[in-house]
Amino acid sequence: MTSHDPQILPPSLPSLTGADGEGTVRADFPILARQVYNRPLVYLDNAATTQKPRCVIDAMTDEYLNVNANVHRGVHYLSQQATDLHEQARETVRRFINARSTAEIVFTRGTTESINLVAATFCQACVGDGDEIIVTEMEHHSNIVPWQLQQARKDIRLRVCPITADGRLDLDALGHLFTSRTRLLACTAVSNVLGTVNPIRDIIAMAHAHGVPVLVDAAQAAPHMVLDVQALDCDFLAFSGHKVYGPTGIGVLYGKETWLDRLPPYMGGGEMIGKVTFERTTFNVLPYKFEAGTPDYVATTGLARAIDYVSAIGLDAIAAYEHALGAYAYERLMQIPGMHIYGPGPSPVISFNVAQPRSAAGRQPALIHHLDLGTLVDHLGIAVRTGHHCAEPLMRRLGVEGTVRASFALYNTRAEVDALAAAIDRVITMF
Ligand code: PMP
Repeated sequence: MTSHDPQILPPSLPSLTGADGEGTVRADFPILARQVYNRPLVYLDNAATTQKPRCVIDAMTDEYLNVNANVHRGVHYLSQQATDLHEQARETVRRFINARSTAEIVFTRGTTESINLVAATFCQACVGDGDEIIVTEMEHHSNIVPWQLQQARKDIRLRVCPITADGRLDLDALGHLFTSRTRLLACTAVSNVLGTVNPIRDIIAMAHAHGVPVLVDAAQAAPHMVLDVQALDCDFLAFSGHKVYGPTGIGVLYGKETWLDRLPPYMGGGEMIGKVTFERTTFNVLPYKFEAGTPDYVATTGLARAIDYVSAIGLDAIAAYEHALGAYAYERLMQIPGMHIYGPGPSPVISFNVAQPRSAAGRQPALIHHLDLGTLVDHLGIAVRTGHHCAEPLMRRLGVEGTVRASFALYNTRAEVDALAAAIDRVITMF
């Protein structure tokens, strides 16, 4: 089969229209019209961050132009308006993940801060010397290092759930990791490298059967699938605004109210207090207990608009579109000689390496260095990510130093997949 054989085309992709119901979604994202190196930009680094629709940019610009004032503290008109927008954004997030109450929605700077918050406060309140936290071999550094930092304070043991050869969590092995000392399981819902979608609901049920609460890293899940924290029954869940078409610097920590009530504050300062004296300070109610200092209230407005945007299109429609596009990309890339894709199969996140065409006979073919491949396709206008993707233990498990990662979003097209495949073909001819 040649790389242009029409037989590899899946049935045409489901149509995806913008939030206004008009045309394609691409027109909603101004940056997609720009050129790099005099070529149309093909942006395939969406797992790192997504581009922003105009409605998000406009909502934030409008707030700075017309509303800006610090929230919660002012009696004046603008402060109340800004506070209303900020608290409406919290309600929008609550609806997005189906939390019971806005008391369970803590605004943070992102997934990383959300996980650090839980690691620090949970280990302070609920973990003792000799206790264990389970993580997995496919975690991002931000769901490994925060737990390790706590080891400086207490004798905490990290136990690691391995992955199978095809890049899934080894659930049998996970079952054997629970002991009477296990205090929490911290697990990603979707791998940022392999694209593996973990059966997170089953994993949570398994942990709960052992009496162990679960923190879900939903950084890579939130843009691609419906999240329902009540249906999942997760205890904590973290995601970042910038990966869901929202602004940078804003993220969410969901926590069951019973857990958040048990945990001590993370940072001290304004807003998180009840009453302050030099002798003793009391703390604010949830979620403000965890929100010290001036929040990024403009970013919360932007995040709410981004959530409105994806909700208007529909997460299910987005998932169907991206799944079909990921399947097309997988088939297309697999036709490239020397291509090796890591992970269990088609998904909107594809990590790969390509063997050099002229490797010595009888020898394991050398790989084209991921950085060379990424740099060369970049000069053809295609933005992909290269390196360890903040998952060095996973790279070690895969036996590579790094990979090239193409990751897709709702605005990507089959033509862009073709452009990526053609660019890789061209790079191969240079080696
Ligand atoms: N977890 C996963 C699975 C991720 O992909 C990322 C971002 N690459 C993070 C956590 C960290 O997100 P942020 O940098 O937005 O805090």
